[in-house]
Amino acid sequence: MSGQAKKKIVKEIKVDVEKCIGCRACEVACSGFHASPKYSSFNPARSRIRVVLDLPSDVYVPLRAGEYTAAECTGRQTFRINGKNYSECSFCPASCPSRDLFKEPDSGLPLKCDMCEDEKIPMCVQVCRPGALTYEEREEERDDEPTPGEVEIGLQALLHRHGAQKVKDTFARLSQGE
Ligand code: SF4
Ligand code: SF4
Repeated sequence: MSGQAKKKIVKEIKVDVEKCIGCRACEVACSGFHASPKYSSFNPARSRIRVVLDLPSDVYVPLRAGEYTAAECTGRQTFRINGKNYSECSFCPASCPSRDLFKEPDSGLPLKCDMCEDEKIPMCVQVCRPGALTYEEREEERDDEPTPGEVEIGLQALLHRHGAQKVKDTFARLSQGE
């Protein structure tokens, strides 16, 4: 059952692919901001934005990590835009089993863009000198439904990979040490 519609601030990052020069400053800034402690490491593999080079089209596509999906999609589409072919995966922001993108390199757990939480302007936008990324806020009526947080998404991935019993046993064992 959906909740009551409420006014919410919708945060949006617009991408102008033609302005992206592939400098990857956005990846470095995002990974540093989300390191623990903050800025203690800069590892693009941990970034929630990745700049993908679509080889057939010779274009850089900055992608922000979206939803985790336990199953890869079955179809493959090709989009033809302005005379160039783009694979479906070029624009897909999912953390999915068929590629390494948007997975924490050590644990394999999914990464998801959190819009830098309380930061006024997201870090990737702040460092994008060519202006390929721009930030906008607008008010929208939205159903007041909770969206899964980082812990919930990580647990979902662990459950899918290891099964409920193993996760429960491990959690019980770790909790005893607290
Ligand atoms: S910082 Fe901007 S120009 Fe550089 S790779 Fe990222 S999106 Fe592209
Ligand atoms: S908005 Fe923040 S969390 Fe999302 S990709 Fe940009 S820097 Fe990373």
